Amino acid sequence: MIGMSLTLMIENSGNTHDKDPAVKNQIPDLKGMLLSELEELVSELGQPRYRADQIAGWLFTRGIQDISEMKNLSKALKQSLASKASVAHSRIARTKRSRIDDTEKLLIEYPDGARIEAVILTDDERHTGCVSTQVGCRFQCRFCATGMMGFKRNLSAGEIVEQILRMQQRLAPVRLNNLVFMGMGEPLDNYDALLKTIRIANAPWGLAIGARRMTVSTAGVVPGIRRLADEGLQINLAVSLNAPTQELRAHLMPIARKYPLNELMDALKYYAETVGRLVTIEYVLMKGVNDSPEMAIMLGRLASGMLAKINVICYNEVKGVRYKSPDNETFTSFITNLRRQCPTVVRRISRGSDIAAGCGQLCVLPDAE
Ligand code: SF4
Repeated sequence: MIGMSLTLMIENSGNTHDKDPAVKNQIPDLKGMLLSELEELVSELGQPRYRADQIAGWLFTRGIQDISEMKNLSKALKQSLASKASVAHSRIARTKRSRIDDTEKLLIEYPDGARIEAVILTDDERHTGCVSTQVGCRFQCRFCATGMMGFKRNLSAGEIVEQILRMQQRLAPVRLNNLVFMGMGEPLDNYDALLKTIRIANAPWGLAIGARRMTVSTAGVVPGIRRLADEGLQINLAVSLNAPTQELRAHLMPIARKYPLNELMDALKYYAETVGRLVTIEYVLMKGVNDSPEMAIMLGRLASGMLAKINVICYNEVKGVRYKSPDNETFTSFITNLRRQCPTVVRRISRGSDIAAGCGQLCVLPDAE
């Protein structure tokens, strides 16, 4: 029964555009618009093209949350703009800073009460925003706190951009210079909003973050990987693999029942060859589950011969989940065995684990505030 309902959810995971609040309400959200769309809008209002540049400046450089804050627009223009469009806004409901590293987790709340977590990671000159694309997640990976929340709704492009702007506000005057779409949700399950966000984040009139400084992390949505490869963008792709066999992967990550390991590996090769960039294989080590020497050898063989690097990280324990992190000796021996098969292996250190900001730990429960 569980298997059946899960299959149904994965079948329905293609276009969930109808759950996009901006689309549902039929009110365009300025923060989810490309410059060309802003130009079209101002032209409809009988305004010159440069007004679109001014509006983009207010939205993406200053991060305003209401049309009334656009000070160099006339009152009449602000009123007609407000009759045609809205501006996504949110509030930072809570922050938590790690005591062990320079990581901060934000709880962000949207006007309808939807809440997500976002994480800012700082490493010298590198300021990375870990972005959520959905409220919850439908994919139910067994080890993941977000999966335990279930799926609430997609975030619209404007809401995702707004989330990045709130992180930017928190960091100011320092600027975010990296984005990883690795927060709550499966980015490729909210494809249109993700792509719009990437285009706005990458544009000089938008957030001006280089494409090579953005990474999309997926649990293995094969059609989304192939589609992204064909977009002509230079963004990085990471896949949360976590098992070197179809059987184990399907057990840990039910999405593998729909998109089996062999199809996933073919899609990763296609991405790497089409975009010309290394694909990152993320492997979270769980004690007694996927940390044996045999698994290391199988994983190395899977990745050898393709443009890929493997990031190995110890599991961040999640309350209510039975998986545990392996000891240091097992971690080291896994890496050694893996490197015999595949030289590009990175031993990753978990960030923000004391504030549940690590991979797979993001979760908003009703009592989160
Ligand atoms: S690992 Fe990713 S895809 Fe899987 S349940 Fe968590 S958020 Fe969803």
